[in-house]
Amino acid sequence: MRNPNTFCKDCQKPLYRRPSELKKWDNVYCGICKKSHMKEFAISGNDARYLRYIKMWKNGEVTGMKGKYSISNHIKRYLLRNMIISVVNVSGVKLINLQIKYH
Ligand SMILES: [Zn+2]
Repeated sequence: MRNPNTFCKDCQKPLYRRPSELKKWDNVYCGICKKSHMKEFAISGNDARYLRYIKMWKNGEVTGMKGKYSISNHIKRYLLRNMIISVVNVSGVKLINLQIKYH
């Protein structure tokens, strides 16, 4: 194990990284924090696809169907999300929490 020369940006754990790697990245993360960030990246990438799909669906460019008989996952998600939002308007705090959890 080499002497640490940098810190994890999230949890401040001392880390060693090769100087060439340090030059490449602005932020250094330990294994655990990196994993959680990868999940974030995956989710936001997925979101971009989802939003594009919904836009196309509204414009009538895609059917919203997956195959012949099932609804696209994007559309399912859209309907679910909107359903939760409309319930929130009716009955308050408890369901607002539910919405945050879903996101
Ligand atoms: Zn960390």
